[in-house]
Amino acid sequence: MIPFLDLGAAYRELKPEIEAAVARVLESGWYILGPEVEAFEAEWAAYCGARHSVGLANGLDALTLSLRALDIGPGDEVIVPSNTYIATWLAVSSVGATPIPVEPDPTTHNIDTTLIEAAITPRTRAILPVHLYGQPADLDPILEIARRHGLRVIEDAAQAHGARYKGQRIGAHGDVVCWSFYPGKNLGALGDAGAITTNDASLAERIALLRNYGSKQKYVNEEAGVNSRLDPIQAAVLRVKLTALDEWTERRRVLAAAYDEGLKGTGMILPNVPDWAEPVWHLYVVRTAEREALQAKLTEAGIGTLIHYPIPPHMQAAYAGLEIAPGALPMARDMAGEVLSLPIGPHLDIEALRRVVETLRGHA
Ligand SMILES: *Cc1c(COP(=O)(O)O)cnc(C)c1O
Repeated sequence: MIPFLDLGAAYRELKPEIEAAVARVLESGWYILGPEVEAFEAEWAAYCGARHSVGLANGLDALTLSLRALDIGPGDEVIVPSNTYIATWLAVSSVGATPIPVEPDPTTHNIDTTLIEAAITPRTRAILPVHLYGQPADLDPILEIARRHGLRVIEDAAQAHGARYKGQRIGAHGDVVCWSFYPGKNLGALGDAGAITTNDASLAERIALLRNYGSKQKYVNEEAGVNSRLDPIQAAVLRVKLTALDEWTERRRVLAAAYDEGLKGTGMILPNVPDWAEPVWHLYVVRTAEREALQAKLTEAGIGTLIHYPIPPHMQAAYAGLEIAPGALPMARDMAGEVLSLPIGPHLDIEALRRVVETLRGHA
């Protein structure tokens, strides 16, 4: 059996360090925010090349609280990719704003920046690009359009830990960058966790306030916040895993290159990496009209695959109210029918990858 992703192996590689870190928190008697969370925030901000980081309960809250901190709400519009995980849209609708979808570039699967301006209206407040599958979106045109139209840029970097755009790590290009440390992400906790990074001190301060009941001083509530604090046990685990992140990303790069080489000439559309992008291969996604047959073949061979994502947000029952016809966003609709995510992760060995390639080439 070749699992899609082996999270247990990630734990076992760092077991003594993780267990020592968890024990340190348990012994400290400090179980909400405090020194462990602050230490992770400082280390994560430094890693991302950002001035500030605020630890949160999950990635969805990172997006939601970023929108709230920018005073985006009812009556406002936010430009989002049509091809993304639904969390990107849910954050926008949960603050009462409207997600305005823009189709992807067919070769990178990320938002097509040439289509953004046509989606801007007097109600538009922000652009919310996603660095999908671990590959940065084309940020320069996005930042330039935002500057010209007075819009904010909120990045969904839930899949892009350590990715670089034109040499600079994702983390502080836009106004605020949103992170998820869901266990399956490239930097994953042992439960839910998230964060924002930003160079804007007042935004960081507002998000830190919102995550803690709108309160800096106990029982004094400056605004109606929520409880979305990063758990110190998860912060301690993340500090350990951060020390392994670059090496684990390097292993993913080696695997992605082996897929690129092994799957050449199969007729499948392989990931396209523009020369300014250094992706971190959160997912290795191929595109093929034969998706169902190939996935069945892999399943039969004991090889785990997933589909990211089988139903685009505009075709979900959750967004029936927006009344967007499936064919109104044909790229997102068609990609959902053709994409297939192959096993990739720091604990997939190259022999297993060769078996995946052989099975796909029909020689198994
Ligand atoms: C995982 C993910 C999120 C949400 O993160 P959670 O921590 O699960 O709330 C948001 N956007 C994208 C693109 C994601 O992959």
